[in-house]
Amino acid sequence: MSGSYRRFIKPSNGKRGHKSSVYEEDYLSAEENLHALVIGDEDQPTPIQSMPMMSSFNDRIRPILDAVDQLRNLMVMKEGIQLPTIVVVGDQSSGKSSVLESLASISLPRGQGICTRVPLIMRLQHNTSLIPEIFLEFNGKTIQTDEANVADAINTATEEIAGGGKGISDAPLTLVVKKNGLPDLTMVDLPGITRVPVHGQPDNIYEQIAAIVMQYIQPEESIILNVLPASVDFTTCESIRMSRQVDKTGQRTLAVVTKADKAPEGLLEKVTADDVNIGLGYVCVRNRIGDESYDNARMEEANLFATHPLLSRIDKSIVGIPVLAKKLMHIQATIMAKCWPEIVGKINEKLNGNVAELNRMPKAMSSVAEFLTAFMQVIGYVKESLRKILVRGEYDEYPDDRNMHCVARVAEMFNLYSDDLLNCPESDHTRNFLMDEIRVLEEAKAIELPNFLPRLTFLSLLQRKVEGVSHLLFGFVEKVWAYFENLVLSVSMHHTENYPQVLFTTKRACQNLMVKMREQSIDWVSEIVQMEKLTDYTSNPEYLNEWNMLMSHRQAFIDHVQKNESSKMKIEGFGEVEIGNLREYQPLLSSAFDLKMRMTAYWKIVLRRLVDCMALHLQLSVRNLVDKELEKETITELMGTNGGKLEMMLEEAPSVAAKRRRLNGSIELLREARDVLSNIMDKVSA
Ligand code: GDP
Ligand code: MG
Repeated sequence: MSGSYRRFIKPSNGKRGHKSSVYEEDYLSAEENLHALVIGDEDQPTPIQSMPMMSSFNDRIRPILDAVDQLRNLMVMKEGIQLPTIVVVGDQSSGKSSVLESLASISLPRGQGICTRVPLIMRLQHNTSLIPEIFLEFNGKTIQTDEANVADAINTATEEIAGGGKGISDAPLTLVVKKNGLPDLTMVDLPGITRVPVHGQPDNIYEQIAAIVMQYIQPEESIILNVLPASVDFTTCESIRMSRQVDKTGQRTLAVVTKADKAPEGLLEKVTADDVNIGLGYVCVRNRIGDESYDNARMEEANLFATHPLLSRIDKSIVGIPVLAKKLMHIQATIMAKCWPEIVGKINEKLNGNVAELNRMPKAMSSVAEFLTAFMQVIGYVKESLRKILVRGEYDEYPDDRNMHCVARVAEMFNLYSDDLLNCPESDHTRNFLMDEIRVLEEAKAIELPNFLPRLTFLSLLQRKVEGVSHLLFGFVEKVWAYFENLVLSVSMHHTENYPQVLFTTKRACQNLMVKMREQSIDWVSEIVQMEKLTDYTSNPEYLNEWNMLMSHRQAFIDHVQKNESSKMKIEGFGEVEIGNLREYQPLLSSAFDLKMRMTAYWKIVLRRLVDCMALHLQLSVRNLVDKELEKETITELMGTNGGKLEMMLEEAPSVAAKRRRLNGSIELLREARDVLSNIMDKVSA
């Protein structure tokens, strides 16, 4: 059973396969170091022709093959990086396992129906030691075995992966065979394609198998080794139908025709006609039959193709397992050289992409101390930013966002508020000139001297006016706090976006705080309104000056109304006013005029007070917010969340944690892959 290729390799006639292909052309034109390393000098005789050359060929290709196999073991395919792979496909019982057995010269499980139920990655390696080394790798473990037990070991492993029944799985099983004289080849054996489920197989077995086969043969990097029994019409093979779906021109398909011994008639014509577009050519073989030794099988094969009247007519460059081995090695070397730069590029690209994505992710925190540090730091940043934009009017952090230029925006709102107060109906003293005053005086009639001006009349007018403008005050504070709320939230979001747990707490604290601050302001405004309604007072001398100035026109006004010369009159401080309707209220005119002038002089004072107080109040509130309340509220919120159990703040959303795990896994894998690559690159440049 210690069959070695070296013994069977016959000198080739120097021709390549009977058909040229893109791969062979690539193979001729590629000039990279790497290519030279794996393929050697094209002018040299094909290495497999002689024992030392075969061995040097193996030596040259092995580092790259090892690297690709390492990448395959790392499952870089999971990261969407396709590796050059020779994929063995064929209909059930077409002889796939037999071909692999012949190449590996070991026994694989064989039997009726479906034997290969999982993708079997076969890594054949030449071994300098004469003692073969065989092991299986699956589910993260390695199982040592030997030639006598490998078939059973594969069956046991298959059961572990795909269950005891006849079901299949796409989780691969790797079989490593290190044996003296083996070609360095890695191939994937796939479950045989069957249309009809056998007893115990799921109804959709065809779809399941087809999906696995497609997954492996679809990538452009895959070479399809299509196993076709000589006995059938190739055009009817399911495996041909499938490979032609993904490789229309057949440029990456190689056909192995098995059972040449069973159906020699017309085989030469079949492979010459090439009805099914096999770009990489045909190799006709005869596998081991029954309990033949591999040595015997190869001798029988060589004998068959040399002596059989029909089969001997087939060109020797396309018959026999050794030729197949040689072809596969060449193809493998070529796709390796072709795909290598792309693999290197892709691994780096994916690695950088994943690292960048991980960096963009929220920071994970592993201890309460770490969390609290981040928390305090973030609160510090938020406070500093707010102090800058709310208090100091510095907006270097948001140079282009006008909405964040807070001091200027608040000043604008403030000017509007002030204008609204000055322009509202309550501040228009010419409207219904003296009529409000006359009404109030009429209702204040009493049995008393007529020229007393009851203070209550003034207060009731004042109350009505203050009430009339109060909505402007409330409206203004609502507007300013809505603006502040937006601002505070966006500043705190900005500083916490990488810390979801901190963000959550801070956001809630800010929302609560802003509600509180707004309520405080509203309470304050209510109080101001109450105060203005309750008392008419000012120490400002402007009031008396103004009143005296206005009162100096009283007599002129009364005279004017009495003379009834015109219905309009110009009064200093008011402009033109309507007086036509005032004649009938002559007895009240003097008091009404006085009342009006007091109110006019006093209202100016009231408005100024409403504007000034508001300004001072806002400044104080903002200062309190930044200096005291924000920190207090966030800490209260933090301690109140989860009953103060800070450990719970460390928990991430499952989706975030899963994403982080996935990225970390990918990064680790890709880093390992990159190490594999840099190792091989060192070898290449050496
Ligand atoms: P698979 O289902 O495609 O893996 O096919 P197997 O390798 O299990 O082969 C199916 C049957 O065909 C087995 O009984 C093999 O012994 C037989 N067989 C495979 N290759 C040859 C061959 O070249 N000649 C002969 N006579 N029988 C073969
Ligand atoms: Mg099989």
